Amino acid sequence: MIQSAQQHNMTRTDLAFQRCINPDCAATFDTGKLHTSCPKCGNLLDVAYDWDRVAVPEKLSDFEAMWSQRFNPVRFSGVWRFHELLPFVPQKNIVTVGEGQTLLQQADAVGKFVGMDAGQLHLQYEGMNPSGSFKDNGMCAAITHANLLGAERAACASTGNTSASLALYCSATQLMKAIIFIGSGKISYGKLSQALDYGALTVQLAGDFDDAMIRVREVAEQLGIYLVNSVNPFRLEGQKTIMFRVLEALRWEVPDWIVVPGGNLGNSSSFGKAFMELKQLGLIDRVPRLAVINASGADTLYELHERRGVRWNGGHVNLDPIREYNDYMDQNGIKADTLASAIEINRPVNLKKCLRALEFCDGVVRQVSDQEILDAKAKVGAGGFGCEPASAASVAGAKVLRREGVIAASDRVVCVLTGHELKDPTATVAYHTTDQDVFHKTLGSRGVTKASHANKAIAVPNELDDIIKAIQLYA
Ligand SMILES: *Cc1c(COP(=O)(O)O)cnc(C)c1O
Ligand SMILES: [Zn+2]
Repeated sequence: MIQSAQQHNMTRTDLAFQRCINPDCAATFDTGKLHTSCPKCGNLLDVAYDWDRVAVPEKLSDFEAMWSQRFNPVRFSGVWRFHELLPFVPQKNIVTVGEGQTLLQQADAVGKFVGMDAGQLHLQYEGMNPSGSFKDNGMCAAITHANLLGAERAACASTGNTSASLALYCSATQLMKAIIFIGSGKISYGKLSQALDYGALTVQLAGDFDDAMIRVREVAEQLGIYLVNSVNPFRLEGQKTIMFRVLEALRWEVPDWIVVPGGNLGNSSSFGKAFMELKQLGLIDRVPRLAVINASGADTLYELHERRGVRWNGGHVNLDPIREYNDYMDQNGIKADTLASAIEINRPVNLKKCLRALEFCDGVVRQVSDQEILDAKAKVGAGGFGCEPASAASVAGAKVLRREGVIAASDRVVCVLTGHELKDPTATVAYHTTDQDVFHKTLGSRGVTKASHANKAIAVPNELDDIIKAIQLYA
């Protein structure tokens, strides 16, 4: 049975702590100060728990008892309903805006496009979160921690969705001020409009996301601002619950594959951690395989993992190929370039954690072109609830893995759709447009030459007979 946090009298410093992911260091720090890198060796940190002292349910289905507590905002939340699996904060200190009310759809039409047997492809719609992307799963955890520390300002660098999420949490809770760093010209209007509308201080930097990421870390350090990028280990705790909800929707059966787009690699890292902990706690008996999908214009993980053989290797990552590749990108002025702006990142900050997840989940990495992404996105729209371009990389990647035979038609596959359809209407309209100029101007420079799955508007004169004829012809 599940017991509440209060019954077990959790305090923030003793049940949970921060721990360096480098096994040779493994330094630990209490949760009273945020560490975005290990003060001793510079590696990333995890939030770790003294599980023996946490009241973890005996089986995952025990969490179903939470459904009857939906009047309690903590248990209404699709994140905090699983509080016992991210117990770094007492229940009374939890911040929630009702995130995590997301759906798993069995999407047979999309499954057919991917090459799956009927009933086997599922889409997890994280765009249904309050700010329209999966980032809210992590942001509620980060803001909870920030608030616990008494932070008055929180900052992030963002390709758009992290800033929209941070801005929303700050406006909806009024707990602190949001400061967001965005690269120039690299953010979709849907996302920028949210940050502005929610009242965030918006710093538009002359540079790209990778530049903004470096700067925001410096600024946060110097001014003592709470940083909510995915180098924040508390944020990733919240994102674990995406996997808990997938399992819940599958009646606690573990699927064969989780397919997720990879940008800064926070999501894939947190999924890996979720499964490591569930396995350790005896709550699952098998682990799904993980597929992380890059855009071909931002394919650092693919390059390192699939071409240069970089592995977690029990924590002893071979850093030489990583340095060589970073130098190669620097020397040749290579910048990330994809229409899937949410994954337009060449220096993923969670690289090592993602390698760990790939090792634990027997994972693979693939890259897909913008053409493949937009074609897959059109299929998600036509067979489901739609998604933004980056999200469709998961479906395009599943199709590649299916074609290669790595995924079998009979496997049970979950593609995570990370962001809402309306985040980036420009790309959608340009794909479906009848205006060749708009098509080429918006998509042509990214190597998109055709829109095979476009649903084009039909032009009709303002005459009743013509309108009726046109409709009878097409529908
Ligand atoms: C942030 C984001 C991603 C990338 O996730 P990472 O955790 O950075 O790998 C993918 N899709 C969308 C819509 C996003 O907002
Ligand atoms: Zn360390």
